[in-house]
Amino acid sequence: MRPVCRKVEFVSGEKCGLDLPDKKCSCGSTYHKDGFGIDAYNMYPFCKWTEIYVSYNGTDLVKNCLHEYFKGYGELREIKINRDGIETISSDKIRVTKFGLLSKEMTKKFPEEIIILRPEEYSQLLDEVSVLTVIENMEEQLCSQDLLNMEFTAKQIKEYFEYAVENGKFNGYDGDMNIGKVISNIKTPSFNDLLIISGFSHSTGAWRGNADLLYDKGISLGKLISCREDVYTYLYDKLSGKCCDNPSGLVVEIKEAVCKGKYSNNRMPLEIESLLLECEVPEWYVESMKKILYLFPKTHLIVLLKRDICKFIVMNNSL
Ligand SMILES: [Zn+2]
Repeated sequence: MRPVCRKVEFVSGEKCGLDLPDKKCSCGSTYHKDGFGIDAYNMYPFCKWTEIYVSYNGTDLVKNCLHEYFKGYGELREIKINRDGIETISSDKIRVTKFGLLSKEMTKKFPEEIIILRPEEYSQLLDEVSVLTVIENMEEQLCSQDLLNMEFTAKQIKEYFEYAVENGKFNGYDGDMNIGKVISNIKTPSFNDLLIISGFSHSTGAWRGNADLLYDKGISLGKLISCREDVYTYLYDKLSGKCCDNPSGLVVEIKEAVCKGKYSNNRMPLEIESLLLECEVPEWYVESMKKILYLFPKTHLIVLLKRDICKFIVMNNSL
């Protein structure tokens, strides 16, 4: 059900809106529970832009959001790079689009809607313009508004959890995850628990030989590194106000390096490691970052999970 009124309440410190208790608005309607503690800077970091991953047809949505977001500050242009003919990195599976945010001055230089540049011109432009690369997964056909708005009861989540465990849904890319101990410790699973576990099962080097050892040492599930966006949020909190006022760009770089395994095999630069430790990031967290080979995006996990739970509910109702 869509909310009747437009009142919004933010609950700080919560990881997952779906897990909050029901609540009524003063107008009498029930709050729609949403939100996953994902920092918007993950997508629009302050000083440096990066890549974002979207599902099928998501590029247009991102473009519209950026237009709205930067209205009055600058103009958005699509950028194409001309090597021998115009480069398309896109394939059947992915579509790659670059957007640049241009100041009023720059739009005089580039009045056309799509800017076509030679590689050397593109590198020069990067000094003056923020560029965001949107990578669209053409195979991931989602997500209807209904799915996004879907809420689940604690009972449905529990039943799905049991079904998922029984049917090996959490067997991951790392092979058998051996999460039996985690599962037996979870008495009433929350949506956030499901997100964390499927984050591990979709990532590489995150659970086996890494988080599982930390879990055995008593570090709780919610503190372990299981998806990309949480790395950003955690490190931003730690670094903010310590290394500089707004460490957003640096934290995005670190997050990207972690999720692509660039710190594995002892490749974390010494200055990054020292900085993290100085900012009171625990040593176990830093060591865990170094073991990760690939981290899955939370946004994508949310959609996969919601879709899977919906399927389960439909299947169960028709049994
Ligand atoms: Zn209301």
